[in-house]
Amino acid sequence: MPELPEVETVRRGLSPAMEGVVIEKADVNRPDLRWPFPDRMAERLTGQRVDRLRRRSKYILADLSGGETLLIHLGMSGRMTVSGDPLGQFVHEHPAPEKHDHVVFHMANGARVTFNDPRRFGVMDLMPTATAEAHKLLAVLGPEPLGNDFHEQHLIESFRGRNTPVKSALLDQGIVAGLGNIYVCEALYRAGITPRRKAGQISAKRVAALVPVIRQVLQDAIEAGGSSLRDFRQADGELGYFQHRFDVYGREGEACRTPGCSGAIQRITQSGRSSFYCAQCQR
Ligand SMILES: [Zn+2]
Repeated sequence: MPELPEVETVRRGLSPAMEGVVIEKADVNRPDLRWPFPDRMAERLTGQRVDRLRRRSKYILADLSGGETLLIHLGMSGRMTVSGDPLGQFVHEHPAPEKHDHVVFHMANGARVTFNDPRRFGVMDLMPTATAEAHKLLAVLGPEPLGNDFHEQHLIESFRGRNTPVKSALLDQGIVAGLGNIYVCEALYRAGITPRRKAGQISAKRVAALVPVIRQVLQDAIEAGGSSLRDFRQADGELGYFQHRFDVYGREGEACRTPGCSGAIQRITQSGRSSFYCAQCQR
């Protein structure tokens, strides 16, 4: 499942193909993904210029010249492929159509953007740009972790009196938007906080220290995604998934990387999901 840095990487990869460019034609090859597509979606997209491609949490938002915004979520298995873009960094032949190519954008610059999603947990919707933030999927979201509204006081107040483990608190999209299992594990490791600690029992000072750590973990991953965009591995034009080195995630039983620590990474299950951490240096 793509996390925030992957989605940001997709957005950056789509930008040269789509931003400022008119959608000459949209193919919508089925009635739904996770939910039905909006009425007359192909028609409403055709002839629209993508004025801006932005991201909110794990959603990509394309603001269209006609005053509507296209919301895209990749779900569990969704992927976007760019081909034939004469201007951007991708110059790939248009691939042969594949079975799960559900939506195809034919751009006026010759680029083709294909949304393929075998499991169909993805989402596309259209709403007025002016009220986009009120969309049911966006209205519930807390501040962006890389934005100005995510700051120390916000996190301290959000954690105050909370009896849930800090791991669950950071996965709560109303506290901070777009953080997923992988980057919460990584951030807690870098902050030296055990995922089992109750959010309300962590000192304000340590909670405050989490804010720059969360930002840095995400920024490092976005940077790795940026390298992957320039990398030969993206030779097929597919966007979003990249190799990234994690310090604790997926490293059960392996040595902790903190200098001077002799601990090994442990895995526990919290709310049905794996948490990876070092019990020696995360307290
Ligand atoms: Zn350690």
